[in-house]
Amino acid sequence: MAKPVLIKSTSGIRGIVGNGLDPIIVTRYGAAFGSMLKSGKVVVGRDSRITGDMMMRAVISGLTSVGIDVVDVGIVPTPTVEIAVKGLKAIGGVCITASHNPSQWNALKFFNKTGEFITPAEYTRLNNIFEKQSFLYKPYNKIGKVTEQADWIEKHINKTLAVKFINIQAVKRKKFKVVVDAVNGAGSIALPQMLKKLGVKVIEINCDNSGKFVHEPEPIPKNLKQLQRAVKKYKADLGVACDPDADRLAMVDEKGQPIGEELTLTLAVKEVLRKKKGTTVINLSTSKATEDIARMSGSKVFYSKVGEANVVQMMHAKKALIGGEGNGGVILPSFHAGRDSLIAAALVLSCLANENKPLSELVETLPKYYTIKTKAALQNNFKARLVKFEKGAGKLLGKTKIDRRDGLRFDFADGWVQVRTSNTEPIFRLIVETNDQKLTDRLTKQVIKFFS
Ligand code: MG
Repeated sequence: MAKPVLIKSTSGIRGIVGNGLDPIIVTRYGAAFGSMLKSGKVVVGRDSRITGDMMMRAVISGLTSVGIDVVDVGIVPTPTVEIAVKGLKAIGGVCITASHNPSQWNALKFFNKTGEFITPAEYTRLNNIFEKQSFLYKPYNKIGKVTEQADWIEKHINKTLAVKFINIQAVKRKKFKVVVDAVNGAGSIALPQMLKKLGVKVIEINCDNSGKFVHEPEPIPKNLKQLQRAVKKYKADLGVACDPDADRLAMVDEKGQPIGEELTLTLAVKEVLRKKKGTTVINLSTSKATEDIARMSGSKVFYSKVGEANVVQMMHAKKALIGGEGNGGVILPSFHAGRDSLIAAALVLSCLANENKPLSELVETLPKYYTIKTKAALQNNFKARLVKFEKGAGKLLGKTKIDRRDGLRFDFADGWVQVRTSNTEPIFRLIVETNDQKLTDRLTKQVIKFFS
């Protein structure tokens, strides 16, 4: 049997079900989280994957065993859990989702009472309780109660449509036709419903909420073939795809071409800054197109380490108006401080309506970069090679500015290169982005060869 996989990171615990991640671990994490929070209620939701129900029961067992009341919000997008935590004045939240990972994976994401990812300090405390098994079990008559609330998707949609940056009337006038591919995940109901409330004619593919991922679930261009075909077949204005927990959004234009998940954030930033001046925070893996658009709108731009918790932390520190992650993760802190495909879709449609152009033409107006994101298995001597790579970077890239906060990012005259190990998988990620396609191709090949 393959080596068991259980990965702990700032975004929670993640593993392969039946081989690393099992209900005993999950129950203990539930008990540890409840012991840390001591008393009150915790919101628990999940994505639609097949192991979700088993995981849900296990985590609820752990939470109630230490006296925590649980509000079960069912199958919902991750951002819906975040919104419910705040809306219910709960002391925390748990979302059971392995996000963009394939079906064999599942994971727990933990939120504190602000509805945001628990801090690194809280995460250390949680893991200490888990490792020492110092659970505050309660006697039979003090265990927590479980209630179910099924209306949080509707509340999430209504809150989204109340955001002042969305020009609802303009969107409604356009009578857009949009194909939605939710990969049968937690966006299956939320995204189509919200779009219908915006007067959109919605064509649903892979929106049965069954958790059967009919294609690779990460919303990146190579996984959007079915959506591309559907957009052309139905002559739609665009197609949107989300990952299984619906915090990331990617788009296909009216010609059936994927525009790349990076541009979701670029367009959302453009739309928000159209109406208000403010600061933008993006992570170190985000396309420069977003920085350029933000600066053109008079915004200051700050870069954070990768990972939603890191982005959100910097957004608070810089009092950011808008930002997020280039992987399709839009964050509007005045709404709630987490990635959200619903707010992303609403902002993009608002931008399309205000600009009054087809998506492909709107994309033409954005700064053009050629980006390749790749990943490869980590070799044993990766760290030593990274040091060597840094020493030789000048030869390959010319004069560079190096950012060491998250792996290594080299900014040079024609673009940037980032090499970093993943928080969630035993791989390293490479991003090369330049203003020339051949240069991007060549640098990608050279760097991959260096590390393999
Ligand atoms: Mg996700």
